[in-house]
Amino acid sequence: MRNRRELFPHVLEMNHQARRRLGCCVYLVHSQDEWLLIDVGYEDTVREIIDLIRNLDFQLSKCRYIVATHADADHVQGLKLAKELLPSAQTVGHPLAAAPLANGDRILTYAEIPAQGISINMPLVTLDATINEGDVLKIGDLELTTWNTPGHTQSQLAFRMGSLLFSGDNIFRDGCVGNIDAHHGSDIADFIKSLERIRDSEVEWLLPSHGPAFKNDRKLLNDTISRLEKYQHMADFGTCAVDWPLLDEWEDELVSGKNTR
Ligand SMILES: [Zn+2]
Repeated sequence: MRNRRELFPHVLEMNHQARRRLGCCVYLVHSQDEWLLIDVGYEDTVREIIDLIRNLDFQLSKCRYIVATHADADHVQGLKLAKELLPSAQTVGHPLAAAPLANGDRILTYAEIPAQGISINMPLVTLDATINEGDVLKIGDLELTTWNTPGHTQSQLAFRMGSLLFSGDNIFRDGCVGNIDAHHGSDIADFIKSLERIRDSEVEWLLPSHGPAFKNDRKLLNDTISRLEKYQHMADFGTCAVDWPLLDEWEDELVSGKNTR
């Protein structure tokens, strides 16, 4: 049996365990002999991740859940294969992630970005159950409480376990946030509310879906929130912005006959 490199008690992260970058963060939470996975990443790393888990002496038949934090390809392309390799597990995610996963919505899942020549295979998968705000996932004697934290995408989930929050694509250690994209259903106002909720919570540690874990630091969160507040009024964010004050100013200037040059 290889050494389990616990990030926190009862929590392993598979990139950290492998000591190299496999893809998005894949968290394994275990208690007694049960365990779950939060995200599985791309299909081509699923077998390696499951081999790693087997070598850590977890029984594959004791996997209770495979959780999709949201339906982006880099988090869930491997979900169908993982479900086949871990038949005892229930696949779960937000109701708004269920449809794009089942129907293969290639735009919402980022499988297809024609303007950038991105086109990847996205195996269709039907979630066994949907979960939403307040739902609890039990693993042994641990409880993970589901938060719906929309913004990056409306289906974005986070999971609170004591002082830890598996925080998805809400915020990363450098203050960056999950991609803001109109085609993805991003909503900057919702994003700000989700970040405020995280900032104002009792959670001490954020375990994001990309990069290392970090402290729930008020200054980091505030800096990111004020950046997003500016984005709401910037043309840079297209239809994700709520307004563009320059056009109102221009209109006033046009009406008043002011020489705008
Ligand atoms: Zn992501």
